[in-house]
Amino acid sequence: MQHKFIRGKILHFLNNSNDELDYEYFADGLLEIANGHIARIDHWHHFQDQLSDLSQVKHYTDGLIMPGFIDAHMHLANLDALATPADELFSWLNNYIFPAEKRLSDPDYATKISEFFIQQMLHNGTTSAMVFNTIYSHAVDALFNAAEKRNMRLITGKTVGDRNLPDYLLELPEAAYIESKHLIQKWHKKPKTRLLYAITPRFVPTTTDALFEQLSQLKIEFPDLHVHTHISETVKDVEWTKTLTGLSSYLSTYEKYGLVTKGTLLAHGIYLTEDEMQRIAKANAGVAFCPTSNLFLGSGLFNLQKANACHMQVGLGSDLGAGTSFSLLQTLNEGYKTLRLQEQVLPALEGFYLSTLGSAKALGIDNYVGNLECGKEADFIVLDLLGATPLIKRRMSMATTLEEKLLILMMLGDERSICATYVAGKMQYNREVGIN
Ligand SMILES: [Zn+2]
Repeated sequence: MQHKFIRGKILHFLNNSNDELDYEYFADGLLEIANGHIARIDHWHHFQDQLSDLSQVKHYTDGLIMPGFIDAHMHLANLDALATPADELFSWLNNYIFPAEKRLSDPDYATKISEFFIQQMLHNGTTSAMVFNTIYSHAVDALFNAAEKRNMRLITGKTVGDRNLPDYLLELPEAAYIESKHLIQKWHKKPKTRLLYAITPRFVPTTTDALFEQLSQLKIEFPDLHVHTHISETVKDVEWTKTLTGLSSYLSTYEKYGLVTKGTLLAHGIYLTEDEMQRIAKANAGVAFCPTSNLFLGSGLFNLQKANACHMQVGLGSDLGAGTSFSLLQTLNEGYKTLRLQEQVLPALEGFYLSTLGSAKALGIDNYVGNLECGKEADFIVLDLLGATPLIKRRMSMATTLEEKLLILMMLGDERSICATYVAGKMQYNREVGIN
């Protein structure tokens, strides 16, 4: 078995049961990778004497090695509707997003956009994500194929809907069940891959009870499937859902059909009540905080303090499409400001926790990824601590503590700060060379 050794500063967050943020930092550390997994993480001086050939060590002198970023909520089709005018969610969906999804009916386009999407993720240091797809099975195949090629841990699924959508995005509940089941059998935990499938209703206003019945059936047949949907994103969305269902809680519909469990990701959750947050926490499901999207659409401000007080698992999502950047550094930048507007703070360490282990836990994949503990899959990135731009370089030269440097990275950094992205121990992106 071939072992790989990566040396540099290393930071990752540890799982703990209390509310304290627990992390491990090695000012000069070494990662040993074997068979795509972390075999050892330690201080360099502990390793040094045991290595007979130092030339096999890849040393990032000014690099900060961290777990790969995990984007808890993105949309494949929205990539080509990025930065289109939006006055609010629903008009934007009708004017730009639904037509963008229709483009994926062309298999050739679906293959090309999937390839570009995955490349952009890696370029931005994102090694895992939960991605909304479209109604078209071949587009689900295309994204899974692109992720499989790089051995990525990726979650996607066919988007289903049977009301309040343009004709071309509607389908019958039975057809949605059959097509989804076919894709699940083809992709979910496919041997020798790291792929996972998510049951994906867009949200309650586009899903009838008859369709929810079918999705519930799938979850019974395949209990370890993920679930990916939206919840309480805008005031209008919450009101519409209440009118359609006659229920006072948005969450109740998902609960009624057994769709809120570990591995369920509910995007946004800006208008969740405290009671709903506690129910999500109790079910071990997660919510994605998507600040660039929430600010772009003017949806509202996610209350992280309230979510934390309810012990709800929160991950960080770009919600790419409404979100304006693939970069989770840029997403943290907007997250910081979203919280400041509510007189809350986002310390840099908590930000980097959210974008790694926090997202992994929210997606229910923390047994595989999210930190660099021994035995975890070796997805990691190397961040440029020297400074990817003259401005960052200048600020970094004045920073003395790790926290100061992390804050500079998260406020001023973007894809230029990613030196390298490794997936399952293999380098898939290198800033000097580009995408592998
Ligand atoms: Zn979304």
